Amino acid sequence: MTHKGAILVLSGPSGAGKSTIINAASDEIGEYYFSISTTTRAARAGEENGVDYFFVSKESFEEDIKAGNFLEYAQVHGNYYGTSLKAVRLALDKGKLVIFDIDVQGHRLVRAKMNDITTSAFITPPTLKDLERRLRARCTDDESVIVNRMENAKNEIRAVGEYDFTIINDTVEIAAKQFVIVAKAARLKQSSEDELKFVSQWLGGK
Ligand code: ADP
Ligand code: 5GP
Repeated sequence: MTHKGAILVLSGPSGAGKSTIINAASDEIGEYYFSISTTTRAARAGEENGVDYFFVSKESFEEDIKAGNFLEYAQVHGNYYGTSLKAVRLALDKGKLVIFDIDVQGHRLVRAKMNDITTSAFITPPTLKDLERRLRARCTDDESVIVNRMENAKNEIRAVGEYDFTIINDTVEIAAKQFVIVAKAARLKQSSEDELKFVSQWLGGK
């Protein structure tokens, strides 16, 4: 049965290990397209425009909102973050698995628009304390940013029940193995359109 692509949404507090896990699993999950978000936050040391994010001004982001260029967008930690529709559509039309690293608000918006092809996983360190240690060890954010991210994490964790899967990132190795299973399951998800086609072919088959 042929089908168009599928979406895998990953959410979890900043510092949960989402990028680490995707990187660790990338050789085992087959061809995928990682949706590069657009943001108004400043690039961290080591981050590249067009690789980690498209870094834009607030004005430019707001123009894109008006033009309807985003599949979803939200304000997180005082900055805009959004997923551009065009690149995602192209990847889905090619039948790819499209992976999003977006917050809980973004997950709700994607569910509202593309529920039938969406699978989701919430990734988190075992405890809030572990999250704090990792944010500090990452050495990319100053104190006020870390405090803000911890506060946000306390709210985000309450949305864990809205996701299909929870991945507790205690060791990267185990979390990456679980992520591979989730990504494989996400690929098997059929759109409602594909299901209708399948039923009609099945009924008419010899
Ligand atoms: P996110 O993409 O969710 O913001 P990162 O992948 O950047 O998170 O991880 C945050 C920090 O925690 C990084 O410094 C990373 O090396 C570290 N880290 C990730 N997973 C683990 C783990 N299982 N144990 C210890 N440190 C981890
Ligand atoms: P960070 O600043 O640590 O890269 O990301 C902060 C938060 O923004 C994370 O929870 C991340 O998942 C979320 N985020 C990144 N890109 C997007 C996006 O395009 N849309 C939404 N809604 N959230 C995003």
